[in-house]
Amino acid sequence: VPGLEPEGELESLRELVARFVAERIVPAEAALGPTALGLPDDVLGPLRAQARELGLWCLDAPEEFGGGGLDAFASVVVWEEASRHRFCHPTPGGGVFGLNPPSPLYQGSPEQIARYVRPHIEEGWVAFNAVAEPSGGTDPAGAIATTARRDGSEWVLNGTKMWITHADRARYGVVYARTGSAISCFIVDTDLPGVSVERVPVIRDHWPTVLDLRDVRVPAANLVGEEGRGLRLAGRWVQRGRLVYAARSIGVAEESVRHAHEWVIHRETFGRVLATRQAVQFAIADSRVEIEAARLLTRRAARVVDAGGDARRDVAIAKLYATEMAFRVVDRMMQLLGAMGMSRELPLEGWFRDLRVARVVEGSSEILRVQIARSELGPAVG
Ligand SMILES: Cc1cc2nc3c(=O)[nH]c(=O)nc-3n(C[C@H](O)[C@H](O)[C@H](O)COP(=O)(O)OP(=O)(O)OC[C@H]3O[C@@H](n4cnc5c(N)ncnc54)[C@H](O)[C@@H]3O)c2cc1C
Repeated sequence: VPGLEPEGELESLRELVARFVAERIVPAEAALGPTALGLPDDVLGPLRAQARELGLWCLDAPEEFGGGGLDAFASVVVWEEASRHRFCHPTPGGGVFGLNPPSPLYQGSPEQIARYVRPHIEEGWVAFNAVAEPSGGTDPAGAIATTARRDGSEWVLNGTKMWITHADRARYGVVYARTGSAISCFIVDTDLPGVSVERVPVIRDHWPTVLDLRDVRVPAANLVGEEGRGLRLAGRWVQRGRLVYAARSIGVAEESVRHAHEWVIHRETFGRVLATRQAVQFAIADSRVEIEAARLLTRRAARVVDAGGDARRDVAIAKLYATEMAFRVVDRMMQLLGAMGMSRELPLEGWFRDLRVARVVEGSSEILRVQIARSELGPAVG
C-alpha cells in the first residue's frame, strides 16, 4: 500500500529492531523459564547497553532532548516489531529500548528539561504518570481529588493516586492535582518525605501501584506549564500513546498467529494435522484479515497525526480496533493450541491478560467509541 509501508531508513530500522528482538530479547526471556514475570535487572542491564549502542534508545522522545525523534508513523512501525516477545507489556522491548519521560515534560521549562528530561534519557531513568485516582480515571477533570496548595516558594500536595504504573521503580513522575477549580501538573520525586508507594495486584503480571501523597512539598519550579492547564499539556502525545498501544497489540496478534501456525502444521488428531481442518484454516484466515485491517488503520491514523490534523477520530478507531482485535486473535490462537495455549510455556496466556488491560487504559474502548460516535453524530451525542 503506497504510503503505508516502511521504506528506506525506516525499513532498515524496522529490520534492526526485529533482529534485536528475535536474537537477543526472545532467547533471554526463554532462558528465564515459565514462572518469570519480567526481565530481571541483571538481564535487562546488558540488553539495554546493547540497544543503546545500536541507537535503539528512547526512540519516540524528541531529538532535541536526546531521544530518537521518530514521527508517529515510524513509531507504530517500530513498536509493532518491538512487541513480538513475551514481556512486551506495558513497554515494547520490556524496557530494553528505554522508557520515555512523561510527555507533559516536553512542554516543561528549560530548567525542568535540564533536570529531568535530558538526564532521564541519558541515564535511562524510569518515571510515572499519575492521573487516575480511587474516584475514577475516565473523567480526570471531574474525578481528581488530589490537591496542591501554594505555600510560599513551595506547593504542598495531598491525595491518593491509583493504578499508577512504574511508581515502584521510578525516580520521579508527574502528578495531576487540583489547584482551585482546575487541574495542574507537578513533578514529584519519589524519595520526598510524604510519598509512599504500594503495589496493587491486577490481572496482568506487571502490577501498578497506589501512590499516596501526604503533605508532600515540591518547589514552585516543579509546576509544569501554566497553573490550571495540566490536562492539556500532553496534547498530541495522548494520540501517540494510543497509537503505540495499537501497534503493540498488532505485534502480539501477529506473534500469536506465528505460534499457532507452528502448532497446527505439526499437531495431528484423528490421523491428520490440524491445518487440514477447515475450522482451523478459518481461524487463521480470520485472524490474518483482522491483523491486516488493524495495521492499515493504525498506520493511516499515524499519518494523520504526522500531517498535523485533528487525528482523534482516526486514532480512536485504530486503538479500539487493534486492541479488541488482538484480544480476539490471541484467544482464538490459544484455542488452536489447546492446553499448550493455556500454559506459561508460551506467552499467549500472558498476552491475553495484558490485552484485557489494554481495553481499559489509555482511552477505554467505551471512551473511544464515544469519541468516534461524536465525530459521526456531532452535538446529537449530548
Ligand atoms: C494495569 C493498569 C495500569 C494503569 N496505569 C495507569 C497509570 O500509569 N497512570 C494513570 O493515571 N492511570 C493508570 N491506570 C488507570 C486507568 O487509566 C483507568 O483505569 C482508566 O482511565 C479507567 O478509569 P477507571 O478504572 O476509574 O474506570 P471508570 O472511570 O470508573 O469507568 C468504569 C467503566 O465505565 C466506562 N465508562 C466511563 N465513562 C463512560 C461513558 N461516558 N460511556 C460509556 N462507558 C463509560 C469506562 O470505559 C470503564 O469501562 C491503569 C490501570 C490499570 C488497570
